Amino acid sequence: SAKHMGRNTFSFFTESMSQDLNRRLKLEDSMRSALANQEFEVYFQPQYDLSSRFVVGAEALLRWYNAELGWVSPAEFIPLAEQTGYIIELGEFVLDQAMQQICELRDFHPQPYRIAVNLSPRQFKDPNLVNSISRMINKYQIDTQLLELEITEGVLLTGDALVKDALFEFHQLGVLVSMDDFGTGYSSLNYLRLYPFDVVKIDQSFIFDMHTSEQVRQLVHTIITMAHNLGIKVIAEGIETQLQLDVLAALGCDLGQGYFLGKPMAKIDFEAWLAQYAHQPLNIENKSLSIQ
Ligand code: C2E
Ligand code: MG
Ligand code: MG
Ligand code: MG
Repeated sequence: SAKHMGRNTFSFFTESMSQDLNRRLKLEDSMRSALANQEFEVYFQPQYDLSSRFVVGAEALLRWYNAELGWVSPAEFIPLAEQTGYIIELGEFVLDQAMQQICELRDFHPQPYRIAVNLSPRQFKDPNLVNSISRMINKYQIDTQLLELEITEGVLLTGDALVKDALFEFHQLGVLVSMDDFGTGYSSLNYLRLYPFDVVKIDQSFIFDMHTSEQVRQLVHTIITMAHNLGIKVIAEGIETQLQLDVLAALGCDLGQGYFLGKPMAKIDFEAWLAQYAHQPLNIENKSLSIQ
């Protein structure tokens, strides 16, 4: 009967809802002690300059391994850390690890490498954000041009004066500011005009569809041209194939990142990777753009 079905549906939903809630509570609980237990690790994914064809830096990406939960994806734990406020502590950990890495790279390589760090909306609610970053910069004595801060449109949507002030203060410090996941939001274009962005990161969804869609390719070309007109550099994320790399280089994209160029790696693996690839230029073919 309908009544019977309704009841089953109800209990089905409550069961899955309580499973979600249990998972959430478990994650929240485990997260509280995860930093102290050294369960978090910062990975580094190489970024290449598509003109010089050499690696020029990396993006810092957080990883969490918990003995009970196994690997937990940032897509799951970052939003939770945002909601609980734990992202403040976690964010400081990532920034500290990233700046430490900048120092070590500087000590072992003649050329400078830049590290990009993701910042969440909640971190901008902390009135000490700029201070704590500039204190770390002083502590490690790093060249501010070697630190890049990635933010998504979500940070700007709050319309908060704190955010605007913070971005201009970063700019004043000489730290680079980049807009992550560009093209997925609603007002990204306007933000490029209003805030001091140095870099735009074209979202990987565009890169995935680029080789099959002339329209997407045109869109990517337009983003690149427009950013260049505003004096902003462009990096493409999610490059998985030689073809995507070739097309992006032909379109004048400045930088690239993706599994095809290098996966996110633990610190020690990244350093070994760099020792091997630092002097090896990328192979970029001069393909015509009428690829289907
Ligand atoms: P994001 O900042 O846009 O980072 C790029 C994501 O794409 C990373 O996922 C990276 O591993 C993945 N990726 C890189 N190359 C490729 C590729 O060729 N193909 C595909 N399919 N994926 C690729 P990850 O590490 O799982 O991070 C997901 C998101 O979590 C990040 O997106 C970022 O928004 C957030 N996140 C990660 N680490 C941090 C952090 O330390 N702080 C904050 N606030 N957010 C972080
Ligand atoms: Mg990012
Ligand atoms: Mg992104
Ligand atoms: Mg993303």
